[in-house]
Amino acid sequence: MSRRRRDLLGDERCVFCEKSPPFVADLIEGPPGVFLCYDCVELCSSVVNENRGRKKRPAAGAGPRQRGTKLTFDALPTPSQLKTELDQYVIGQERAKKVVSVAVYNHYKRILVDPEPHGVEIEKSNILLIGPTGTGKTLIARTLARILNVPFAIGDATTLTEAGYVGEDVENLLLRLLQNCDFDIERAEKGIVFIDEIDKIAKTQLNVSITRDVSGEGVQQALLKMLEGTVSNVPPQGGRKHPEQAYIQLDTTNILFVCGGAFVNLDEIIAGRVGRKQIGFKTDPNVDRERRKGELLQQCEVEDLLQFGMIPEFVGRLPIVCALAPLDEDALVRIMMEPKNAVIRQYQRLFEMEGSQLEFTPEAIREVAKRALAKETGARGIRAIVEDLMLDLMFALPGKREPARYTVTHEVVRGERPVIVEEVGAKKVTRKRETA
Ligand code: ADP
Repeated sequence: MSRRRRDLLGDERCVFCEKSPPFVADLIEGPPGVFLCYDCVELCSSVVNENRGRKKRPAAGAGPRQRGTKLTFDALPTPSQLKTELDQYVIGQERAKKVVSVAVYNHYKRILVDPEPHGVEIEKSNILLIGPTGTGKTLIARTLARILNVPFAIGDATTLTEAGYVGEDVENLLLRLLQNCDFDIERAEKGIVFIDEIDKIAKTQLNVSITRDVSGEGVQQALLKMLEGTVSNVPPQGGRKHPEQAYIQLDTTNILFVCGGAFVNLDEIIAGRVGRKQIGFKTDPNVDRERRKGELLQQCEVEDLLQFGMIPEFVGRLPIVCALAPLDEDALVRIMMEPKNAVIRQYQRLFEMEGSQLEFTPEAIREVAKRALAKETGARGIRAIVEDLMLDLMFALPGKREPARYTVTHEVVRGERPVIVEEVGAKKVTRKRETA
């Protein structure tokens, strides 16, 4: 940066990104007048690691791979390593994490190891995750893609249609995958695609749209080939396909498809099959009913999905079926605090960047969990509640002169009193190295 510019902008400014507090977290001071912000230090460190990683091949499952590097069998984490990594982000759902870790490991082993001379063909292990909304279906798929450093795309089955109707072609799912890896076809062909709301294309489902494929069955048919493995023609601009367009050809044989859906009332179908009563009245009927639902979904079999309205060929292409349990109050409390990117931690970091502190009392966290549970949207409710609580504070925070400690109690969550604010004497700029 030129001297003139520095004079204009002030001294305590990162020499790399040229930002100064409060737009950067902390600055490290070097020789007089030279500062480096934490973000740029992290960036430099990742560049150094990436360059070192290129020279030295990582050990099996060692650490997350850098963006753009190829997944190799040597670097493929074992199922238990995958599960351990998932544990850091996904709370509970132990069985689902285990099933998915094994399935994903086998899937990538299948594509990364040369086929055996015996010619034994290992089938593709696409996954169907069944569970109420906000229980971690998307989170599991997204986290796996991040651990493996493979491209990831999310699509919604309700927007898809069979060719000839208004809506999206199924190939648009693949376009999103390509976009997410800068059209690197080789990487995209080993990516993960998550298709949400898959239960909404069950053929018995009534559909209000008159322009869309009304039964949902057509969409299932359209997805079949893609799930199994085909060379798809992907329109690079998206939208509907038309004859004069140039397509990108993408082979879906090695793409892992994870489908998710709430499958409302599937538990009743299963209960009918296993011939047991669904509701117990021993304790709180609501809690008991939720637990019972979860237990029933664990027993889901192909015939239940067929009865629900999925077509046999479609179910056949999703050999791994796994149910996620509804989240109870304790799980919601853990979700607020434990994951690496837990919502409270994120807010605490935002406050730290302003030199302030944010605390939630245990009772406040429990109160948020209770309210989120009542919303019946799983862990999704948490973010909405916390965001609502934080809105006014976040609005006022950047203008605060003095750093402060903000405490959220259960009365605050209930709207009975404002957040407790105490002044503290912290400094915004941390100097790690004092100049001589
Ligand atoms: P869905 O099951 O509807 O796909 P998501 O995986 O999208 O739900 O979850 C929505 C949000 O809720 C996630 O981004 C995550 O923050 C949180 N969440 C849901 N389930 C869990 C879980 N088991 N552990 C940690 N966070 C979770």
